[in-house]
Amino acid sequence: MALAYARRESLPLAVRGGGHNVSGSALCEGGVVIDFSVLRGVQVDPGARVARVQPGALWGDVDAGTQAHGLVTPGGIVTHTGVAGLTVGGGFGWLSRRWGLTSDNLLSARMLLADGDRVRAAADENADLFWAVRGGGGNFGIVTEFEFGLHKLGPTVLAGPILFRPNRREVLSFYREFIAGAPDELAVYLNLRTAPALEWVPEDLRGTDVLLVIPCYSGDLDDGEALLRPLREFGPPAADLVRRKPYVEHQSMFDASVPHHWGYYWKSHYLPPLTEDAIDVLVERSWAKNSPASYTLLFHMGGAMIDGPVGGSAASGRDAAHAMNINAAWPAGGQDHVDIGWCREYFAAMEPHATGGEYVNFLHNDEGEARIRASYGNGYQRLAQIKAIYDPENIFSSNQNIKPSAGQPAPS
Ligand SMILES: Cc1cc2nc3c(=O)[nH]c(=O)nc-3n(C[C@H](O)[C@H](O)[C@H](O)COP(=O)(O)OP(=O)(O)OC[C@H]3O[C@@H](n4cnc5c(N)ncnc54)[C@H](O)[C@@H]3O)c2cc1C
Repeated sequence: MALAYARRESLPLAVRGGGHNVSGSALCEGGVVIDFSVLRGVQVDPGARVARVQPGALWGDVDAGTQAHGLVTPGGIVTHTGVAGLTVGGGFGWLSRRWGLTSDNLLSARMLLADGDRVRAAADENADLFWAVRGGGGNFGIVTEFEFGLHKLGPTVLAGPILFRPNRREVLSFYREFIAGAPDELAVYLNLRTAPALEWVPEDLRGTDVLLVIPCYSGDLDDGEALLRPLREFGPPAADLVRRKPYVEHQSMFDASVPHHWGYYWKSHYLPPLTEDAIDVLVERSWAKNSPASYTLLFHMGGAMIDGPVGGSAASGRDAAHAMNINAAWPAGGQDHVDIGWCREYFAAMEPHATGGEYVNFLHNDEGEARIRASYGNGYQRLAQIKAIYDPENIFSSNQNIKPSAGQPAPS
């Protein structure tokens, strides 16, 4: 009804899942917002290893529902991020090196199309739409139910941050060598920031600049202990908080450092393996910020993300070694925009060391058409042709928008 109303009245339309997209695309001015935030149901069939998820669910809902059965699907690293937006943009987190992108684990999607039709998209039904909705963002229709495949996990993982003082350049070089041989069960992220005053941060480090090296190992835990020993002993670090803990505990560990109602401005790159020059930029720029809340994050990509699902999907960036986030952040009521200049200059300094692509879900709303196209990678042309079939009038445009383009898409 809301979709029909927006169409009839020629109003802008936005679709809101968890409301986390920093571009603000879940909202629109003077238009209609289809807000799914009350539809957060997660139904798990442990025998079939499948979860059916409503479009307003957050990752915390999915993790709680699936881990109750010792099962999991790889989601984002903050529990209050929405499942819907993350999945249609591709999606990755701690377990993606082992089991692929979030969207690689999507078995089917129930969708409401621009013309009001309700369809199922899966490998054997509307295959072109299924290819596009796994990485093409919210451009093709409204997903009303996600069906994910599940894997057995734990519930315990070996995970947590190792904290170093910021002037430890050699840690970054060691990190690069260490992850070059990492198995798919291991992801090691980097977070360069000011340590927040959170309960898990040692008191003497709170408010100081730190380099967090954060492993998450989801395989056999004894193997993990041996594997992580060199990383934990290197240095030595200022604090080693790696331990065996429930996956859901690790998943929520960073929630409080990115709270709602703060101001955020993000820029992002996909990076190849770190070079010494790239490390120079990380060391020079990461802590030259003004707001203690601003930070740099490097996701560790590769592993099962490289190949993707049988038949492929629209998700790009599979060749990247890292997704890098440069995130200006300021607490509610704080000095707005204080680090936007820092973020832009840092982004420009890292550009020569980046792949030229970017994760579509990290795009801000001022990036421009060329950057949007680059974020969809080689699949852009095919996405534009599929858009012309399912949404020729570009009704779903409050997103990292793909313009409909005539021409026959190559078969899936
Ligand atoms: C703190 C934080 C942590 C993050 N961590 C990760 C991470 O670990 N991994 C990762 O991959 N990404 C991460 N992201 C980025 C995240 O993937 C995007 O912000 C994503 O858009 C969030 O989904 P959402 O449902 O909350 O988005 P919303 O803001 O609600 O929606 C964003 C867009 O998604 C589309 N959309 C929403 N609902 C639907 C639907 N039902 N059907 C079709 N399209 C829909 C629409 O185009 C909408 O404009 C993070 C973001 C934040 C702010």
